[in-house]
Amino acid sequence: MRWVITGASRGIGLEFVRQLAARGEEVIAAARDANNVALAAIVKKSEGRVRALACDVTNDQSVRKFARELGDVEVDVLVNNAGVGGKWQGFEELDLEEVKRTFDVNALGPIRVTRALVPQILKGKTRRIVHITSGMGSIADNSSGGAYGYRMSKAALNMANKSFSVDYKDKGVVAVVMNPGWVATDMGGDKAPLPVEDSVKLMLARIDALTPAENGAFLNYKGGVFPY
Ligand code: NDP
Repeated sequence: MRWVITGASRGIGLEFVRQLAARGEEVIAAARDANNVALAAIVKKSEGRVRALACDVTNDQSVRKFARELGDVEVDVLVNNAGVGGKWQGFEELDLEEVKRTFDVNALGPIRVTRALVPQILKGKTRRIVHITSGMGSIADNSSGGAYGYRMSKAALNMANKSFSVDYKDKGVVAVVMNPGWVATDMGGDKAPLPVEDSVKLMLARIDALTPAENGAFLNYKGGVFPY
């Protein structure tokens, strides 16, 4: 199977690439810096199965160039993982330009990437798209408030995925959003209880087991669904 992982330079994205490479999968690792040292080490060991390509998900030109470089190949699973936390400010101090930047990466970025890769995804056998969202994008689960830009951007991503899952259902696409848990990465910070290896291992098990009946679902990394 051929996988595309965005935001593959570090954190959850890099760990996806590492575990998939260890399984012998073909992986396209999309990163703002395709020469990233950690990625380069995996590419080198992979005997041509892992390729690193440049892709800034906020830049239309970069995303289109990425799709061209990928070429006319099948993509079986696209993981839209690239994301930013933005500034976590109170309602009155909220920097709206920062909110827009967060939106651009987390909500519009996956649309840019998926749209550019539709031909390759429709050529694929499994046609799976996994958007890495956040429990913080759940409206039903929001009891602590705050984090406006981040929460709004992930809620928007969830809605975009839902519409896409309806629009492309007849083409055999299975598109979901998935909560990775609170994960120890640069974004998750030191207090995060879940090692990145465990989060990705559990998410991969869920992605491997995805069924058409789950199209449009908000899945939780450790099983079950998350409330929208
Ligand atoms: P990190 O901050 O560790 O990594 C973020 C990744 O996204 C980096 O590879 C970064 O690339 C990339 N990225 C940021 N902006 C862009 C852009 N414009 N174009 C391409 N890539 C970009 O975060 P995590 O690994 O923790 O997060 C991965 C995903 O998981 C995100 O979508 C996040 O919202 C989600 N998530 C994480 C949680 C956690 O607890 N860690 C909890 C819930 C959700 P670069 O190195 O170039 O900056």
